[in-house]
Amino acid sequence: MAHIILKRSSFFHNLDIIAATCGSKEKIALVLKDNAYGHGLIEMATLAAQYGITRAVVRHVHEAKRVAEYFEYILILADTTYAPNPKFHYTLNALEDIDKLPAQCNVELKVDTGMHRNGIDARELEEAFTRIAQRKLRLKGLFSHHRSADTLSSEWFWQRHCFEKIKAQAKTLHQRHSHEPLACHISNSAALFREGACNDAMVRVGIAAYGVLELDATLTMPPLQPVLSLYAEKISSRVLRPHERIGYNGTYTATENHDAATYNIGYADGFMRCYAPQFRTPEGIAVLGRISMDNSSFDTTKETLLLFDDARVAARAGGTITYEVLSALKADLQRHIV
Ligand SMILES: *Cc1c(COP(=O)(O)O)cnc(C)c1O
Repeated sequence: MAHIILKRSSFFHNLDIIAATCGSKEKIALVLKDNAYGHGLIEMATLAAQYGITRAVVRHVHEAKRVAEYFEYILILADTTYAPNPKFHYTLNALEDIDKLPAQCNVELKVDTGMHRNGIDARELEEAFTRIAQRKLRLKGLFSHHRSADTLSSEWFWQRHCFEKIKAQAKTLHQRHSHEPLACHISNSAALFREGACNDAMVRVGIAAYGVLELDATLTMPPLQPVLSLYAEKISSRVLRPHERIGYNGTYTATENHDAATYNIGYADGFMRCYAPQFRTPEGIAVLGRISMDNSSFDTTKETLLLFDDARVAARAGGTITYEVLSALKADLQRHIV
């Protein structure tokens, strides 16, 4: 079976850099959504806990339940299916979410600071605080999300400014209803490295921890190391003769006799069809013809083939981003920590 190798030392190296930038490992909320960006939810939760990470961010309650034992705090981004657990914090993405959760449940209010995707509008702030208090929800946090922290423009500054304004209003409103602190946070990976510090309660970091952050070339890139490598094994090999064509629709034509082999990886595993024909492995080995559902052919006959050890290379071949390359990797691939 095709498999994934996860490098513990690279993950810990990245966490060292993130902790040094945001101030402490207690401030890191590791984003583990979507099977930890394809790395494996339990594998990455185990490593994170070993490192001393106490906070996690997931998308659904079922993910939160699976990693509950590893963390002290779990932010659930988009699921209001209530499960009684004092570690779980539910995101209120819209005013309607306030009515979906039971009294005493921990919630965090998402506010829209310019991305216009999720979160309440600044004009709804007062109504939100009143309704949260009426419903007796425990408001623990206020947060937002950057839309273009990875690009060189003024947008990062503008959104940060909007968030500071909303934070000030929210803190005043919060004091009317509660004596507990309100934890505020906005930074994802790119925003953390744009700011170079964290004056908020925590940072929600995903892609930088996995070591494949992408930033505009003019922004300073921290020396992160990719954690994940993808490998496949040979199913069969052959000698292609001149004019023989390989795979569906025969899109690759041999010009001379050469060896080729087919490997046990395809787009059903998350090795995407759009990587061909540009894709090269780290050893410079070319993919030959189309990537099929369960197979792909390469210009080599090696038994085990390293497909990529840096998702940015695959992302470039496929015209996409590292988030899509990684989260496409299926949960049933074997994952080994080294
Ligand atoms: C996915 C996500 C993050 C993590 O973003 P990275 O760029 O991977 O650091 C942070 N916050 C929210 C709301 C997210 O959805």
